[in-house]
Amino acid sequence: MIIRAKYVWPVCLPPIEDGGVLVHRGIIHRVAPFRDIRTEAHEDDVVDLGESIIIPGLVDAHCHTDYTYMSGRLKRTSSFTAWIQQIINEKKTWTDSKFIESRETGLQISLENGTTTIADTFSQTQLIRHIRPVSLRTLIFPELIGLVSSDTTAEFFNRYTSVLDEVEYSLGLQAGLAPHSLFSTTPEILRFCAANAAAANRVTSIHAAESKDEFLMYHNRSGDLFEWLQDRRSMDDCGDTTPIRALFKCGILSSNCLLIHANYLTVDDLNLLGEIRSVIVHCPCSQAFFGHKRFLYDEINKRGISVCLGTDSPASSSLTPESSLSLFTQMRLFSDNYPGIEPEEIIRMTTLNPARALGLNGVKGELTPGAHADMIALPITANMAGLYEEIVNFTGKPSAVMVGGHWTSTPEK
Ligand SMILES: [Zn+2]
Repeated sequence: MIIRAKYVWPVCLPPIEDGGVLVHRGIIHRVAPFRDIRTEAHEDDVVDLGESIIIPGLVDAHCHTDYTYMSGRLKRTSSFTAWIQQIINEKKTWTDSKFIESRETGLQISLENGTTTIADTFSQTQLIRHIRPVSLRTLIFPELIGLVSSDTTAEFFNRYTSVLDEVEYSLGLQAGLAPHSLFSTTPEILRFCAANAAAANRVTSIHAAESKDEFLMYHNRSGDLFEWLQDRRSMDDCGDTTPIRALFKCGILSSNCLLIHANYLTVDDLNLLGEIRSVIVHCPCSQAFFGHKRFLYDEINKRGISVCLGTDSPASSSLTPESSLSLFTQMRLFSDNYPGIEPEEIIRMTTLNPARALGLNGVKGELTPGAHADMIALPITANMAGLYEEIVNFTGKPSAVMVGGHWTSTPEK
């Protein structure tokens, strides 16, 4: 099959006018001007998308789709600690099936909005066997929380390892490690995750330096989070440090560890993350929802730290799930906040950068021979010079979505 459109942009290479993508058994074989590949498929096997641009399916570097039904349930508050308390209380009222349905709804919304690969945190690890197959590629990050030493027994770690095994062997999906955050785990848990990630070549994802409350807890031993947690966990790791330094001490920082948010960074933190070649996932809607400090994009980028965009979840957004789970919304918001950043660079944050960060280099996030045939089509009116800007400003849903060579949203033409 050849998919033809006015433009094809592989992202890893410049856009091709009147381009075509040759797909066979779910894999991309060639990406070239249509005239160069037209003889490689029967004319009945050419899908002409006309005045459109074909780009790779987007890659969401961080989401909690199991919280989709939390949309509108949590009050917007400037206190991050108060929000955590709200979500804990809300989760207590949910049934198992609500988490599963909420996740499936979120994944379907993500797919319809052009996300074909998602790094999905899953809070209900005991329900892992109830996860049902979906059309987009999901990398599951079972969330790990443990506040006290009784949470660091061999049995505790064995249970978590068996969840990861279940994801990989029973569900046949890629599993990642997801210690929730520095403050909701212990140094032993983080050291376990670091060792497991290195031994099994798994990616780790952790909320890091997200809020002012977290920064104050580690730097000054003060603030709402410190006050709330001091009777619940040891605070020996707090004081005279930063969340990033404390994570470093536990050995968990690496180029395979995705730091989610990283809103509160010192110059020393930035330099350290630059040396490690860290990956940071910025979630623009979530950042705006909490009113966090401005994300230090220029400082981060200057140090060669890779930045990806994530959607986080409708629980930390004032938008509808249809809007907040769309990476186009996140790109637009990022572009509004950083008007000096080239649109092409922003699109890399939802394609190439997250694919590489998730170990899917050459397979996802780009249209290249050997990659999975995951692509989306957008109606386009711009000429070659305005393509990137029109993509970043795109609103609505892609006119077609393909995953692994199958249309999940059928082209209209
Ligand atoms: Zn998150």
